[in-house]
Amino acid sequence: MDQGAAVESVAYDVIVVGSGPGGATVAREMARRGARVLLLEQGSAAPLEGTLRQMAAMAALPGRGAFLHRDGSLLVRAIASGGSSAINYATAMAPPLPLFLRHGIDLAPALRQLREEVPMLPLPDRLVGTMAARIMGAARELGHDWRKLDKMIYADQCRSGCWRCTYGCPFGAKWTARNFVDDALAHGALLLDQARVTRVLLRDGRAVGVEFVRAGTVRQAYADVVVLAGGGIGSPRLLRASGLSSGAAALFSDPVIAVMGTVDDIDGGKEVPMAAGMHLQGDGITLADMTLPKAMYQAFAAQAGRLDRLLAHRRTLTVMVKIRDQIGGSIGPLWVDKTLTAADRAKFHLGVRMAREILTRAGAHHVFESRHFAAHPGGSVLIGAGVDQHLQTSTEKLYVCDASVIPEAWGLPPTVTLLCLGKYLAAHLSAVR
Ligand SMILES: Cc1cc2nc3c(=O)[nH]c(=O)nc-3n(C[C@H](O)[C@H](O)[C@H](O)COP(=O)(O)OP(=O)(O)OC[C@H]3O[C@@H](n4cnc5c(N)ncnc54)[C@H](O)[C@@H]3O)c2cc1C
Repeated sequence: MDQGAAVESVAYDVIVVGSGPGGATVAREMARRGARVLLLEQGSAAPLEGTLRQMAAMAALPGRGAFLHRDGSLLVRAIASGGSSAINYATAMAPPLPLFLRHGIDLAPALRQLREEVPMLPLPDRLVGTMAARIMGAARELGHDWRKLDKMIYADQCRSGCWRCTYGCPFGAKWTARNFVDDALAHGALLLDQARVTRVLLRDGRAVGVEFVRAGTVRQAYADVVVLAGGGIGSPRLLRASGLSSGAAALFSDPVIAVMGTVDDIDGGKEVPMAAGMHLQGDGITLADMTLPKAMYQAFAAQAGRLDRLLAHRRTLTVMVKIRDQIGGSIGPLWVDKTLTAADRAKFHLGVRMAREILTRAGAHHVFESRHFAAHPGGSVLIGAGVDQHLQTSTEKLYVCDASVIPEAWGLPPTVTLLCLGKYLAAHLSAVR
């Protein structure tokens, strides 16, 4: 029998919509506390293969995983169990605790717990690729505070000379939100994948469940509490589709430019991206190495019009320049649009100049840049505006827990923060149950 056949007849304690870092954590924490949890995910829970084909199905289908903006730049997210963590670069950064305290939220207890539960350590030297090491050496020679970054990677299961984390690690070496989904299932939660939630069901002004489509059939499920965790694009869309917000939501996206240059004495191209880097908090700029698989590199080179560089993948060093962009643009029912402001462009200007200096110091020639692209949609249902300090919307029993609630312009790897928010929300829900 289909596992999901009887969801209508079960009264759940919590329905969680979306299985990315935010949703997986709430589902896991609530299931561990004995709650009856239903987790609905529109993507597939098929095992990760580490292939371009599977990654593209998750994150490159236009209007689903990939959104082309008016200025020709791209925003991507993954539609899959685990959300974008399935294909992310596994860089761990602790949440800025003072920022959340300003909004009445203490994430310190959640962070302490997570450090015991999730790997967050720099890679051992044997897993730092030759390209990352060359870039780090050059950056340090220039006086930059360039350090190994914490990674959500089980080093004992990770292999050198491998590039598959970017496509979805098939070896279980990279921690993803699927780890928490599995734990939620082990504690009795039910996951229905390929189940697209279309709206929140309301009774007397309270959330009582959701309507969703699975295998072409419209279904309903009911719970005491509904948590939207559809990510920075998915959650504001669901609020709007449910008549619970008006107008298109704005967002941040933490856009990135890849600066690339060829060296003559390295034969590489297969390594963990973002092994090391530096974060300039005041400037809102992050730089890191970002060696990508050949097909992705070639897409960047082609997009930049550098057909002369198409065959240089194994010799190309890449530095990622990420900026903290201003919140703006809009999320519509079928599209997302976000263009750079003058302040955003000034940050890119500075960051790209630094990346070029580092590459030149590393001995690179034929240096060129990609257009900007982005992978961190968020800030679209802000704490203090779209949700309160307990992440509840103005609709009783309806919460949001994902990158959309991040309350200010961001520019950081968000995953650990979202895990903390998931734990924080679960603690609150348990206290008021
Ligand atoms: C290429 C790439 C590299 C990255 N690298 C890093 C990194 O190194 N470190 C870091 O911290 N972060 C990184 N990120 C960002 C990070 O992965 C995301 O910010 C994070 O996954 C967002 O989590 P979330 O819970 O907000 O939602 P998401 O991960 O977006 O998950 C939301 C889930 O909800 C589902 N959903 C949406 N709407 C519905 C609906 N209506 N019904 C059912 N399901 C729905 C989606 O299918 C999705 O699976 C990267 C992202 C990408 C794409």
